[in-house]
Amino acid sequence: MYEGMRKKDFKFLYCLLLTIVLNMSAAGLAEANSGADGPTPVTEFMIFEDVDGSCDFSVVSSPAFTASFHPYAQDTLSLGVSHSVFWVRFILPVFPYAETGAREFLQLANPNISWLDVYFPVYGADDTQGAIHYVEKNGGAARRPLNHEVWDTSWAFIVPGSYARGQYVFLRLQSISSLRLPVLVWQEKAFFQSVLVKNFIYGIFYGILAAMLLYNLFIVFVLRDKTYLFYILYIFFMLVYQLDAHGHLKLWLELPYALYNSLFWLCLAAAFVFSILFTASFLQIHKGEIRDSIVIQGLLTVAVIQGLLGIAGYAIWANNIARGLGIIEPLVFIALAVSRLRRGFRPAIFYLLAWGILSWGILVWILSPNRVFAENILMLSTAAEMVLLSLALSDRFRTLRLKELMLTRNVVYYRDLSLTDELTGLYNRRYMKKRVQQEIRQALKEKQELSLLVMDIDFFKGYNDTYGHWQGDQVLRRFSKGVLEILQGRQLAFRFGGEEFVILLPDANLKEAATVAERIRQTFEAEAFVPAGGTLVHVTVSGGLTCLQTGDTETKLFQRADKALYQAKASGRNRIVCQ
Ligand code: GH3
Ligand code: MG
Ligand code: MG
Repeated sequence: MYEGMRKKDFKFLYCLLLTIVLNMSAAGLAEANSGADGPTPVTEFMIFEDVDGSCDFSVVSSPAFTASFHPYAQDTLSLGVSHSVFWVRFILPVFPYAETGAREFLQLANPNISWLDVYFPVYGADDTQGAIHYVEKNGGAARRPLNHEVWDTSWAFIVPGSYARGQYVFLRLQSISSLRLPVLVWQEKAFFQSVLVKNFIYGIFYGILAAMLLYNLFIVFVLRDKTYLFYILYIFFMLVYQLDAHGHLKLWLELPYALYNSLFWLCLAAAFVFSILFTASFLQIHKGEIRDSIVIQGLLTVAVIQGLLGIAGYAIWANNIARGLGIIEPLVFIALAVSRLRRGFRPAIFYLLAWGILSWGILVWILSPNRVFAENILMLSTAAEMVLLSLALSDRFRTLRLKELMLTRNVVYYRDLSLTDELTGLYNRRYMKKRVQQEIRQALKEKQELSLLVMDIDFFKGYNDTYGHWQGDQVLRRFSKGVLEILQGRQLAFRFGGEEFVILLPDANLKEAATVAERIRQTFEAEAFVPAGGTLVHVTVSGGLTCLQTGDTETKLFQRADKALYQAKASGRNRIVCQ
C-alpha cells in the first residue's frame, strides 16, 4: 500500500512538472515573440461603428466622412461582441532602423476574428508623390485566415511596396467573437521568426493531441471500454475544432464557407458533449444521483443548443453560449471530481488536475491582453489536460481492476468456504453430490472407469465416549490429512458426515481403486494416537468399494458401496470389501 502510494505520488509530481514545463515553454516562446526585433503595435486608432453594416469603403474613406470617426484611447483594439461592422483607421508606425528594401507585415493577431478587410493607401504605379488610391486586401469569405499572400494562421498582410506612408490604413472588421485585436507591424525577418515559433507550438499541441488520440484508440480496441471511447471522441472533435479554429484544416480541406461553418460548430458542440459524457462515465455518475445527473443533463442540453444555434446561423449567440460553457464546464467538473475524491475515488486527482489546468488556461486566455501569449497558454493547457486525462483514465482502470480482483477473490473464497468442511478441510457433502453426478456423466460419456469408496471409522462412538469429542476431532483430522496425501490427480475425498467419508476415483478400475483403498486403511491403522496419559491408541477404518457399471445411477452406485461397507463392518471391520 505504502509502495503504491509512493508510486502514485511520483506520477502526480511528474504530471505537475510536465504541466509547469509546458506552460513555461509557452510563456517563454511568447516572450521570444516579442523580443527586440519584435513587432511595433499600432496604438492610435480612429473608429466608426457601422451598426447595420450599410456603408462601403468608398463612403467611409471619403473626406466628408472623416468627422464620423472617433478617436480610440486604448492601446489594443477591444470592441466587445457586436453585430455591428467596425471601421478602423490608423497610420503605420515607422521602423527607425529598417533595412532598406525589407518588407513589412501588418498582422491582426487574433485568429478568431470572423471577417476582415484591409485597405492600404498606395501611390500610383511608378509615382511616389502623385495621387493616392487604395488597395483592398481581404481575409475573404473563408472561415479562418491562412490566406495565400502570407502563410500565417493569424490575419497577416504584406504592406505594399508603394504604401503611402503617413496616410490612413482602413480596416473593416466584423466578428461573431469578441473583437479584441492587437494590430502589429513587423519587419520581414522578425515576422517569419515569429511564425516559425508559433508553428512550433502548434506542432507540439497537435502532436500531443494526435498521440493521445492514437494511443487511446488502441486501448479502446483492446478494452472496449465506454469511458475510453468518450475520451477519444472528445480529443478527436477537439483536434478537428482546433485545426479549424486556427486555420490549419484549410491546408487539407478546401470546403465551401457554409460547410466550414457547420463543421466548426459541430466539432465544438461534439467536443463539449463528449467531454461531458466522458466525465459522467469517468466519475461513475449514475441516474440514482439525482443532483449530479441533472447537472450533467443540463450541460449536455446547453452544448447541443449551442451547436444547433451555430449551425442555424445564430453565430453570436452560439459563441456567447460556448464561451460561457467553456468557463462553467471545467468548474462543474472540478466540483464533481472533488466530491468523488472525498468518497475515496483516487483517480479523481488526475482528473481534477487536468480540468484545473484547463480552467487556468481559459482564465489566462480571457484576461491576458497579449493574444499570442494567451492563445499559446490555452493550447498548451489543453494539451496538458489531454495528457492528464489519459493518465487519469489509466489510473481509473487500474483502480477498478484492483476492485474487481478483490471481488473475484472474495467470490472464490466464499465459494470454497461453501464447498469445504470446516473440521477436516475436505470437500463437504454439498459439493460431493454435484461432483459425483458430474464424474458419472463424464465417465459414461467417455467410457471410462469410475470407482467409489465409502469409509467409516470403526468404533468411533466408543473412542469419543472414552477420550472426548475433542480427541475424536483430532482423529478425523489426521485421517483426512492422510487420505489427501495418498490421493493423486483427479481423485477426490469428501466428508460425507460424522465419521463417514467418500472417495471418488475417476479413471480407476476396481483393482486400482482397491490398492488406493488398502493404502488408506493401512496407513490409518499404522497411525498412533495419544489421547490420554501417554497410552498409544490405534484406530481403524472400514471401506466399501464399488465401480461404475453400465446402467448405473448415482443411487445404485452408492447403494452398492454402502452394502460393501456394511459387509466390511459385519465381517470384523478394518477391511475393504469390493462389490
Ligand atoms: P461402527 O461404525 O464401527 O459400527 O461404530 P461407530 O461407533 O463408529 O458407530 P456410529 O457410526 O454409530 O458412530 C458414529 C459416531 O461418530 C457418533 C459420534 O459420536 C461420532 N461423531 C460424529 N461426528 C463427529 C464429529 O464431528 N466429531 C467427533 N469427535 N465425533 C463425531
Ligand atoms: Mg458411522
Ligand atoms: Mg463408525
